[in-house]
Amino acid sequence: MVARPLREPVAAYVALGANLGNAASSVKHALAALAELPHTRLVKASSLYETAPHQALGPMYVNAVALLHTQLTAPDLLAALQALEQAAGRVRSGVNAPRTLDLDVLFYGEASISSPQLSVPHPRWDQRAFVLWPLHEIAPALVKPSMLAAVADQAITRLT
Ligand code: AMP
Repeated sequence: MVARPLREPVAAYVALGANLGNAASSVKHALAALAELPHTRLVKASSLYETAPHQALGPMYVNAVALLHTQLTAPDLLAALQALEQAAGRVRSGVNAPRTLDLDVLFYGEASISSPQLSVPHPRWDQRAFVLWPLHEIAPALVKPSMLAAVADQAITRLT
């Protein structure tokens, strides 16, 4: 077998969220699992944040954002994230339903992707305090003050 040469690493930002069971523990485990993905390095992880459900149901959410350097393609990264969601016991009971773990690709390098499976940049990344504040913590250049001002009505607390 001829080994396929690996691609240059791409900077990918991933949003993590959970609001069932021990949500903080789910997010921490997911961060550890991201660090173990093949051909991937966990470069930065934000603090954990607690947020009220936004256009969603159920208990409070715990959220975070991670920066990965990955040699996985965007579809392979999405598949890997979905495998972690499944492993965390997520049941897809409906759009915006409570979830043990939700992992979204926010950015995959500079790529603009619009396929049935994957939209990148994530279509709503700049409308959600639970993405913007953790992203601002680890990549302030990506988040304009006007974006933070626009989500000022969405309650969010940084957990220690
Ligand atoms: P959710 O219920 O928020 O986890 O949405 C999962 C669905 O969104 C899956 O079918 C994915 O294929 C699709 N999807 C589209 N774009 C993205 C993205 N940037 N990150 C994660 N899932 C995505």
